[in-house]
Amino acid sequence: MAAILPPAMLGILGGGQLGRMFATAAKTMGYRVTVLDPDADAPAAAFADVHLCAPYNDQEALHMLASTCAAVTTEFENVNADAMRWLAGHTRVSPSGDAVAVAQNRILEKSWINKAGLPTAPFLALETVEDLHVDLSNYLPGIMKTARLGYDGKGQVRVSTPEEARSAYANLGGQACVLEKMLDLKLEVSAIVARTTNAQEACFPVAENRHENGILDVSIVPARIEPELAHRVQQMALQLANALDYVGVLAVEFFVLEDDSVVVNEIAPRPHNSGHYTIDACVTSQFEQQVRTMCGLLPGKTDLLSPVVMVNLLGDVWREDGGEPNWAVLCEAPNAKLHLYGKKAARPGRKMGHFTVLSAKVDDALEQAEALKDTL
Ligand code: ADP
Ligand code: MG
Repeated sequence: MAAILPPAMLGILGGGQLGRMFATAAKTMGYRVTVLDPDADAPAAAFADVHLCAPYNDQEALHMLASTCAAVTTEFENVNADAMRWLAGHTRVSPSGDAVAVAQNRILEKSWINKAGLPTAPFLALETVEDLHVDLSNYLPGIMKTARLGYDGKGQVRVSTPEEARSAYANLGGQACVLEKMLDLKLEVSAIVARTTNAQEACFPVAENRHENGILDVSIVPARIEPELAHRVQQMALQLANALDYVGVLAVEFFVLEDDSVVVNEIAPRPHNSGHYTIDACVTSQFEQQVRTMCGLLPGKTDLLSPVVMVNLLGDVWREDGGEPNWAVLCEAPNAKLHLYGKKAARPGRKMGHFTVLSAKVDDALEQAEALKDTL
């Protein structure tokens, strides 16, 4: 397929911060961007040439995308996979609706990861309450997770006993869930792959991720793990992308256990929060990779230019009266980069922005990043 070149129009379903950073990358390269998002204040709208302010399944808006965009992608997995399949009949779409459908349902996702030959935490698929009427001891203590629409630790309940598992299932509304065994984690890491239609692929350096209340807090790159382990993680991410015959940017989250064995946690069919460091610290960013793969260009080089630490800025760091954090020290730091997403309301747990700190030594970057966060 011929490459799509600037100034072609590129479309994206979703206009959150990932859409905004995608639009920035695309526009920097000279492409034009159309964003579909029902929110008039969508963070990506300010950076787009065209904002279709309509629901994701709006026929007119989808027709508009199909007729005006040379290629269409998505920034979140809870987009209607059927809308993506329909679009694929009219324009170039990546990733495929099928790949998105796998990532948006934890039951399909985990079964599919196992089918690709990779381990997950032991899990029990719960389609109905009847599925709980078995011996649960292999999955306890565990986490009840809704099969759909969970993110940033939402839709999850920690449970220790069969009774707690049953009431958690009921409290989540009796919808499809997975009961997943709680593992002893030594570390969480992620790897992000870019893959083209003719199976050309590139994998970014592995990020070491720290979470706070189920939400990503800090990514440390390079991850402070043995090169052999980092290589193994990257190979697993590539193996998943190949098994899905994936086109686009695929993020894979992993758990590293005490014995250095690795299990896959989940996948995201798009750039990922733990890959934001690539904007400031890699030859190619994960968002440029998204542009490149959807346009049929080769993936860009993924080399790390400097050790880097990324810190998420959640609404919690805003003042209670909504006043801005004290940005002065962070903005003055010559090796820090501030990224704000332009969201109006700062709510606790809401991702409002992030910053990175680059330094020759990753431990120095981490120490400085933590100190900078404390000044906010
Ligand atoms: P989300 O879609 O909300 O990111 P995850 O399944 O990635 O959901 O869970 C969020 C976080 O909760 C993980 O990054 C990890 O810190 C913790 N967690 C999830 N599942 C397990 C598990 N089986 N064992 C231990 N910790 C877990
Ligand atoms: Mg996760």
